[in-house]
Amino acid sequence: MSYAPPLQRLVTELSKLPGIGNRTAQRLAFHILRSSDDDAAALATAIREVKQLIGQCEICFNLAEGPRCRICEDERRDTSVICVVEDSSDVIPLERTHEYRGLYHVLGGALSPIDGVDPDDLRIAELYARLEGDAGGVHEVVLATNPTTTGEATALHIADGLRERAPQITVTRLASGLPVGSDLEYADEVTLGRAFAGRRAL
Ligand SMILES: [Zn+2]
Repeated sequence: MSYAPPLQRLVTELSKLPGIGNRTAQRLAFHILRSSDDDAAALATAIREVKQLIGQCEICFNLAEGPRCRICEDERRDTSVICVVEDSSDVIPLERTHEYRGLYHVLGGALSPIDGVDPDDLRIAELYARLEGDAGGVHEVVLATNPTTTGEATALHIADGLRERAPQITVTRLASGLPVGSDLEYADEVTLGRAFAGRRAL
């Protein structure tokens, strides 16, 4: 027996979410069906608004409500350091460490030739352009890509590129101590804070 089409559509959409299997999708769909009209409408509105209102920062490609993100707009940030991360989801855990007051650059992934992700697919050229247009204000670039094979390859690729284009800039990488093979997103604040404080030159 199958569900009524509107309910089945909701189950289908929910099951597309990461970590949500068909059973969980069914449970969530029934929960939404039983919830109040207001709660269900608030969920639908939140989903619609996140797509309508959140875009990418024109400078660092972090998530932004408007043309620039809050970090790029904050005049108290240290503009002499740029921290390079794979995804915008990596910015929040780094911010939580309170170890860093500089700016960010979000690559949009990591190099992975097997998956067809080449340098052109990431915002590496945008990073170089940012440094070229900066007239010497940036002294350090912190490569905070994930401690995974692809993250390491990405860090080394960018370190080479920076040595060639901007030899005056110090290039650092987060210290070890981060769980190898995992994402920054899941590291605890203390470990991540220590890794940041102990970053080393590449
Ligand atoms: Zn920004």
